[in-house]
Amino acid sequence: MSCIFCKIINGGIPSHKIYEDEDTIAFLDAYPAGAGHTLILPKAHYADVMNTPDAIFNKTMSTAKKLAPVITKAMDADGFNLFLNNGRAAGQVVDHVHLHILPRNTQDNLKIGLPQKPYGQGEAEKIKQSIINCLRENHLDREKIKEQIKQNAPQGKISCAKAFELAQLYGISHARMGESLNQLKIKIVKCQLGCF
Ligand SMILES: [Zn+2]
Repeated sequence: MSCIFCKIINGGIPSHKIYEDEDTIAFLDAYPAGAGHTLILPKAHYADVMNTPDAIFNKTMSTAKKLAPVITKAMDADGFNLFLNNGRAAGQVVDHVHLHILPRNTQDNLKIGLPQKPYGQGEAEKIKQSIINCLRENHLDREKIKEQIKQNAPQGKISCAKAFELAQLYGISHARMGESLNQLKIKIVKCQLGCF
């Protein structure tokens, strides 16, 4: 595994670790934007948000929520930023999903605000509609697959080949479902009816 965070987790590369539990770990960012800048991540390797199982992502967020006020107090800060960069376009540098906690002081002069401008005439309505359409499509995909599973296996268990066939039938793609075909296949095979 060439992932630098995995090497840190395994102790191959030293770090300033501040917290660890069964599933998550937190250490100081080696290139901090400010004192106490901390990274919180799952111990298992997941490249990004969409590849991280919900339970693990929730635990990572929960660790961040627990640590944020502690770090803020320890740094004698006034507040904190909690953020995550997902994908190169968003500034993700290491492909092992991680959250940032950055303690902030009123007078720290850090500028991480984004430039903002209002939508043009009718633009927000169009954007809202295209997002709602995507949500609806994903929902329909899931409903169709559930129906197919019901028809093909009363116990909710279907063969790997059938799951693959269904996924292909509905053109499930990474972009539409936020998960790879293979992951979806495994999920369908493992899933009992009703737990989608
Ligand atoms: Zn890793």
